[in-house]
Amino acid sequence: MSDFKGKMGVSSEDWNSLMKGKVDLCICRKCPTYRSAIEASIAHYKGLGPPVAVSVHEKAIGIYFCYYDKSPRVHENKGCICKACPVTKQARLVNNLYCMNGDETRQRGIVDPLAEILGQV
Ligand code: SF4
Ligand code: SF4
Repeated sequence: MSDFKGKMGVSSEDWNSLMKGKVDLCICRKCPTYRSAIEASIAHYKGLGPPVAVSVHEKAIGIYFCYYDKSPRVHENKGCICKACPVTKQARLVNNLYCMNGDETRQRGIVDPLAEILGQV
């Protein structure tokens, strides 16, 4: 995971406080791209398709692709609604389509040296 600290004007602490108790801020679940992607997962659970890889944060934390990076199950852009999300304004995001293109720091070309060493970028 990339770190916003000192790179976007949003420290990790600020991010945590921004998100604390606000688990519903991310509107990705309403997005046509994400809805299309989860159809394959739903089909699998109904026994109608193969298993679909899902990132850990999607299961355990929430979506927030802008912070937690892209999803292995999103492959087709059907439109992005990030610009309408309150997180875009609060975290001063400038990109979108994070589920496919990676989190904000990745899209800005900012690589976390530790993550790079650990092969997570
Ligand atoms: S900006 Fe996009 S990825 Fe980030 S929280 Fe909002 S809807 Fe989710
Ligand atoms: S990052 Fe954008 S395109 Fe991807 S699911 Fe969220 S709103 Fe949709």
